[in-house]
Amino acid sequence: MAFKPANNIQDVQHFGEFGGVNPSISDSSTYTFMSAKTMFDTFEGNTDGCYLYSRHASPSNLNLSEALAAMEGTETANVYASGMGAITSTILQHCKAGEHIVSSRTIYGGTYAFLKNFTPKFNIETTFVDITKVDRVEAAITPNTKIIYCESVSNPLLEIADIKNLAKLAKKHNLQLVVDNTFSPLSISPAKLGADVVIHSLTKFINGSSDTVAGVVCGTQDFINQLRDVNNGAAMLLGATMDSMRSASVLKNMRTLHIRMEQHSKNALYLAEKFEANGLKTVYPGLASHPSHKLYKSIMNSQYGFGGMLTIDVGSLDKANALMELMQHKNLGYLAVSLGFYKTLFSSPGSSTSSEIPEAEQKEMGMSNGLIRFSVGLDADINRTYQTMNECMLELHIL
Ligand SMILES: *Cc1c(COP(=O)(O)O)cnc(C)c1O
Repeated sequence: MAFKPANNIQDVQHFGEFGGVNPSISDSSTYTFMSAKTMFDTFEGNTDGCYLYSRHASPSNLNLSEALAAMEGTETANVYASGMGAITSTILQHCKAGEHIVSSRTIYGGTYAFLKNFTPKFNIETTFVDITKVDRVEAAITPNTKIIYCESVSNPLLEIADIKNLAKLAKKHNLQLVVDNTFSPLSISPAKLGADVVIHSLTKFINGSSDTVAGVVCGTQDFINQLRDVNNGAAMLLGATMDSMRSASVLKNMRTLHIRMEQHSKNALYLAEKFEANGLKTVYPGLASHPSHKLYKSIMNSQYGFGGMLTIDVGSLDKANALMELMQHKNLGYLAVSLGFYKTLFSSPGSSTSSEIPEAEQKEMGMSNGLIRFSVGLDADINRTYQTMNECMLELHIL
């Protein structure tokens, strides 16, 4: 089967209201009708091209959704006010009381907390497994299982999901494979590998400006229609709707994603190779030492590289904190959570983004106190960055 290239963004064409090269921003929450009959039909979802109310749909949100669906190669998409809005809507749309989820145990802290603490209130239970072992995933499936949930590249441990084989497993047991692709846009195309639903926190690489939170669900027309159903849809009824001003802004930023991803990946590979050569415990999917390096290579869209995320282990939380403070002081990046910014961002997952995960469970997953997660920036001179980082590490006796 011949797939289109991952980056179909260039094929998206919009004409603004007055012929502008950017589509006009739909700055309205509500829309007028020339006839009352059309209004009723629009509420019922029977009229194409008519809008009723911007929580249901807005021209700007549809434009952004269309571009994201083109990127992921899905029939369509629906944008949200945050990545968590996209994730929680998808899970609650798919599952009802008494049903069950098999999830990777290394996932974003917020998603973990939702599955561990929140959905049990609705009698939806989750079994957390090592997602890199497909047989363990299968062993956790029960007659009530509805979803297999994972991240293509996991947060923060950078484990790689074998999406093709997980998709086969999902088909065999009649389950939905839901993949959060936030860490690896363009680099991995989960839908093309068989995932049913692809989610992104647009907050990260796709928007790339660290100026908003936003999210998207990419999937079939049928599933997106279910999410947006006025009587029964989680997107519609939970109301995590993106604002049109923001979707217009994300759409403009997204157009340079392919160039940014190449640079993030190039810089991250450079640092990872140097760190590893210096004897630091380094995790990056582009290193031959990564347990899933071969798997990543076999599923990736190679021109975008192995992504911008890497981790190192400097031995203790104190050392990690000292190094991050010093690197910020030397203007190498920011001591901040999140990812996908032009500057390098570094944080200590155990005490920040993954703090929702209890310490004992963090240990079991292989998360250590000295772990530093880097979202490597777009630095034009990455060697200079490396040299200065090296000086910081020598100064703190990390090397
Ligand atoms: C940030 C993040 C989320 C949550 O997205 P928000 O936009 O902050 O709601 C979900 N998954 C992953 C992998 C993330 O990094």
